[in-house]
Amino acid sequence: GHILVCSGTGCVSSGCVKVVEALTENMEKHKIEKEFKIIKTGCHGFCEMGPIVIVYPEGTFYCRVTPEDTAKIVEEHLLKGRIVKDLLYTPPQGEQKIPSYKEIDFYKKQQRIALRNCGYINPEDINEYIGKGGYEALGKVLTQMTPQEVIEEMKKSGLRGRGGGGFPTGLKWEFASKSQSDKKYVICNADEGDPGAFMDRSILEGDPHSLIEGMIIAGYAIGADEGYVYVRAEYPLAIKRLKTAIKQAEEYGLLGEDILGTGFNFTLHIKEGAGAFVCGEETALMASIEGKRGMPRPRPPFPAVKGLWDKPSNINNVETFANVPVIYEKGADWFASLGTEKSKGTKVFALTGKINNTGLAEVPMGITIREIIYDIGGGITNNRKFKAVQIGGPSGGCIPEELLDLPIDYDSLLDAGAMMGSGGLVVMDDTTCMVDLAKFFLNFTQAESCGKCTPCREGTKRMLEILERITEGNGREGDIELLEEIGETVKLTSLCGLGQTAPNPILSTIKYFRSEYEAHINEKR
Ligand code: SF4
Repeated sequence: GHILVCSGTGCVSSGCVKVVEALTENMEKHKIEKEFKIIKTGCHGFCEMGPIVIVYPEGTFYCRVTPEDTAKIVEEHLLKGRIVKDLLYTPPQGEQKIPSYKEIDFYKKQQRIALRNCGYINPEDINEYIGKGGYEALGKVLTQMTPQEVIEEMKKSGLRGRGGGGFPTGLKWEFASKSQSDKKYVICNADEGDPGAFMDRSILEGDPHSLIEGMIIAGYAIGADEGYVYVRAEYPLAIKRLKTAIKQAEEYGLLGEDILGTGFNFTLHIKEGAGAFVCGEETALMASIEGKRGMPRPRPPFPAVKGLWDKPSNINNVETFANVPVIYEKGADWFASLGTEKSKGTKVFALTGKINNTGLAEVPMGITIREIIYDIGGGITNNRKFKAVQIGGPSGGCIPEELLDLPIDYDSLLDAGAMMGSGGLVVMDDTTCMVDLAKFFLNFTQAESCGKCTPCREGTKRMLEILERITEGNGREGDIELLEEIGETVKLTSLCGLGQTAPNPILSTIKYFRSEYEAHINEKR
């Protein structure tokens, strides 16, 4: 039997390390430590319920396990085969306890591609990744396909960038492959900065080889022999696991020189970022790798032409790369059969705020917001009323109740004034003040603005001042219109994505909750 203990950052903070120790002690006490293997996995996604322990082969799901509980798991379940009922999961709306994780609503509607191995394998053991079919795609790509065929397959899959922009990955690869140069780079953007988003961290911690394999395939496609993973220094566990994974891949001849004897070379480095939000912007990110101050520069030239150290470069984010191996393993047609016409595949969302099941969920594109919040997320905490959901972090926008049945894909979210962003989902109940919410996000982007261009530097400051006076009861007539005017200008004229999206939370809350702004302004009179 196997016992999986979730050891992602979420479960580490809820105490999984002590749970593993106690479990080991109890197993040793009963001398069964050889019969059952404890596997410390990456994030299982259901962080609200951590620490999570799953006992196989049955897949019995125990949640909120304390070190004291482990005695019961060992004595009842492992020794006598009896399920420990009080550690089972109870859904928020039901009395019935659920023994198997497959039966839990949180998992039922999910479809896991990027997170396929997260929570199921030991991320520090390359053999477990290989055991799940890992590096098969790389073998196939390197031995049976030309770089052009690899790009064609990627185009056919319809995969779009999961970092937020949604640019077609195959096209991006094609641009970089067409640039002639003696040197090219593949870069992974792991500078996840949106408050509340942690999908990239989970992949790095739970399945680092999926990212490495995706990057090598990209390198082969565009003709690059070197790669960088730009990862936040605030993610120490992710960095540690990635380092281990890189070392193991090198030892197995999957990374480095003459990969799998095919003559293809690819080396991979880690660059730790210092936590500036703007370094998630690709030109700022490259400047930071070069050791310069992380500031965006105008595009064109695009990185595909002139990127890292002025060489053609291709940048994708962690979730995008994690999807790559599966596309070559199962085929572009299979991948393209999932999702909607223009948004293929799945997307990982981080559920936070006033929602019962906080955590990480991967769903097919086209699923409605209602399904995510009520079926997977288990509804609003304390049975309160849903008010709105902020999608896409500080660059995204607010979606009100009347749009709950909106199918989630890149384009319909943009039409609604929000955006996919990296997939953060912050749920608000009827007690949330939408003006406060807008102020919260603007406060963040304003502080992170690098100051290079005037509209973003000054515009966000002026907008914040207006929001402050409105929430303090000193709003003036015309303030809402002024916010709209400045917001539109900042969107249109800022140099990089940070400024271009910073007004979204304000503009969307004005669009859907204008009366709340008016109420604040009229209150004082
Ligand atoms: Fe810097 Fe903001 Fe201009 Fe981007 S938009 S370059 S973050 S000032």
